[in-house]
Amino acid sequence: MYSIAAKQAKGKFAQDNIFAANNKAVALADKLGNDKVINATVGSILDEDGNLVVLDVVQEEYKKLTPRQYSSYAPIQGYAEYLDDCIDQCFGESRPAGYIRACSTPGGTGVLHHAVHNYSEIGDEILITDWHWGAYDSVIKDNNRKIRTFSLINKEGHFDLDDFRIQLNDLVSKQKNTVILLNGIANNPTGYCMTVAEWQAAVDAIRAAVENTDKNVILVPDVAYLDYSGEKKECRKFFKVFGNLPKNILVIVAYTLSKGFTLYGQRMGAMIGITSDEGVAKEFVDINQYSSRATWSNCNSAPQQAMIAICRDPAKIEKLDEERKFYFEMIQQRANIFMKEADELGIKYVPYISGFFITIPMEGAQAVCDKLQEDNIFMVPLKKGIRLAVCSVSKKKMQGLAGKLKAAMDEV
Ligand code: PLP
Repeated sequence: MYSIAAKQAKGKFAQDNIFAANNKAVALADKLGNDKVINATVGSILDEDGNLVVLDVVQEEYKKLTPRQYSSYAPIQGYAEYLDDCIDQCFGESRPAGYIRACSTPGGTGVLHHAVHNYSEIGDEILITDWHWGAYDSVIKDNNRKIRTFSLINKEGHFDLDDFRIQLNDLVSKQKNTVILLNGIANNPTGYCMTVAEWQAAVDAIRAAVENTDKNVILVPDVAYLDYSGEKKECRKFFKVFGNLPKNILVIVAYTLSKGFTLYGQRMGAMIGITSDEGVAKEFVDINQYSSRATWSNCNSAPQQAMIAICRDPAKIEKLDEERKFYFEMIQQRANIFMKEADELGIKYVPYISGFFITIPMEGAQAVCDKLQEDNIFMVPLKKGIRLAVCSVSKKKMQGLAGKLKAAMDEV
């Protein structure tokens, strides 16, 4: 094949197992009817009838937006009120101490892009967990960086601090800057959640790694599923551990409206920087705003305006919290059905606490997924397991699913 692509672009293609499996499932459901197909690939909340959930309070505000509100160019950094609201919504009562600044991004993906692009050098290794969202690989490789993984969970089923420390120290010894993407709450694909003590231990390890050195660490807690990771105040407590860090540690929270406001396709989020140094805070806004200008320019106005309208009205915030709580509990109930049945059948899954997905570790995930498809069941094959989207499978369909999975596993 004749290739016209530049050297760094040659051979790249977006291989997305998730969309591939989803497309098949949707086509089959159109043919046979929704009730005949179990589509456990979708990374969005579907209600018990299989319809996409868009929070009522969000829908109501969208309907009220004026043409000017949804069509104007937003400031490159984002509307000031929007950025304040992101900070409030993200941290709640657990705002860490330090200079806190935010820049708008198109979803959490935009944050990951800028963090990698602006805080590591070409050829650097970026530290991520072994269990991670596939898009991490693309963001890292497309920026001509390399992937370094550490194991997220140790044999005892807890955060693998030892491996984190080993990989971190090695990278710090080799590179000026080490960027860490850490989807440590309601992890995609496992549903693992780091405790406050585990976040603290991770931060302490970073402190120790860079103490008395001229090295920097940029920690990016990816909180995409924050609003479905636990009780509102409780699940935000870990943010406090990011306060009062030395100036060579910058924390950039990857905040997104995709899940918390069910605005996936509206592409809206924010990178929220936390630092003890005023200069680092200023630089954070300067360089990231520059990169926004040079990539997507400004972000979508509509979701920013809708968020501003919701967050400046306590009654609407209350409604938002109630709706999120309802869906958090619905997802937990679905997960509990699967885990109970899996326990009875002896199917092992990675420790699930909360979030949109459960992972069943195994070799040969593709073959098992192919087998399941013969039964009109669609799950996502990963390198080291199968991902089951508990956010999108109803309680009714969840019943008996572990048994069908076991049968497929036994057959291949
Ligand atoms: N991080 C993780 C782990 C995710 O799974 C997702 C979405 O699937 C995101 C970040 C952010 O997605 P978006 O760019 O749609 O906000």
